[in-house]
Amino acid sequence: MAILGLACVSIHGPAAARSPRARPIIDIHVHASSRDRDRPVAVCPGDQEITFNAVDPRDAYYPAKASSCANPIYSPLTSDELRRGTIAALLRNNARHAVLTGRPEVVALWRKGYEALFIPAGDPGSSTPAQLDRLRSLIASRAVDVIFEVGFQYQGKRADNPALEPFWALAEQRDIPVGIHLGESVPGGAREPGPNAFRPSLTTPFQLEDVLRKHPRLRVYVCHYGSPLVDEMIAMLYFYPNLYVDISANDWNSPRAQFYDHLKRMVDAGFSKRILFGSDQTAFPQGIDLAVPSVAAAPFLNAAQKRDISYNNAARFLRLSPAQIAADHRPLRP
Ligand SMILES: [Zn+2]
Repeated sequence: MAILGLACVSIHGPAAARSPRARPIIDIHVHASSRDRDRPVAVCPGDQEITFNAVDPRDAYYPAKASSCANPIYSPLTSDELRRGTIAALLRNNARHAVLTGRPEVVALWRKGYEALFIPAGDPGSSTPAQLDRLRSLIASRAVDVIFEVGFQYQGKRADNPALEPFWALAEQRDIPVGIHLGESVPGGAREPGPNAFRPSLTTPFQLEDVLRKHPRLRVYVCHYGSPLVDEMIAMLYFYPNLYVDISANDWNSPRAQFYDHLKRMVDAGFSKRILFGSDQTAFPQGIDLAVPSVAAAPFLNAAQKRDISYNNAARFLRLSPAQIAADHRPLRP
């Protein structure tokens, strides 16, 4: 996610987009975040020209230096505004389901009154016995139906690290879908202060090889499709038919030409049935309003491919029932 620095502007999202004939979507990647701040965070949308700037190592660093664009968008100031803004953006884009991850108590708060919309998710953090015990009980109580966003890359660990093996064994044994982050972090991330174990080299989709071989019944989606390592991802999708990818964040926050190039290459390679729509809404509800039309307007996708990416693939991956799928295609009551 290409987050910029801080600024003082309020949110003005695009106008409501939902029409009575809008087709359903599933957002596979939403974060229930808590964000109470004095000033908003800015981000560059991918439909503008984004420049990732050079930063001289002798100069002081602040995130706004790393990238620039003409008209950034800004995060809400409060957790409540973020929650309400996200729900409104999902509903006006006719999202019928959104996989929602975060701390269990925050996910529960967001789901209150929106239990049909939000599929609860969570992330173990790592693979210690205590963390796995906690995850087991969350799965048993249905507080977690999907495990994401697994962030081993942020911890400087490969997915096939032997210490993580019990985690993959648990996910396979419980038959629970897993979303793992393989992709970019923030631009200029190497200059971010504090502990920073993230490594771009740990984006490689090939690190999932041994995991998928050892656990052939796993249902895994790679968040951000291992961007920008599309060729490696295509090799993995070809060989492991249980593997999916999501296009979250890339679909609104990456330079649009780059995202379209990536998406087209995966579709041209034959994988339109394995790509899941997501927003990676973390701090910017407006991202949902940008992500949905970026797929709808992709000039190289036909209508069936757009439907697959926006809804059908996730319905298959999440094993929604035929009755649920039929209900999702009926108009929402006002
Ligand atoms: Zn995410």
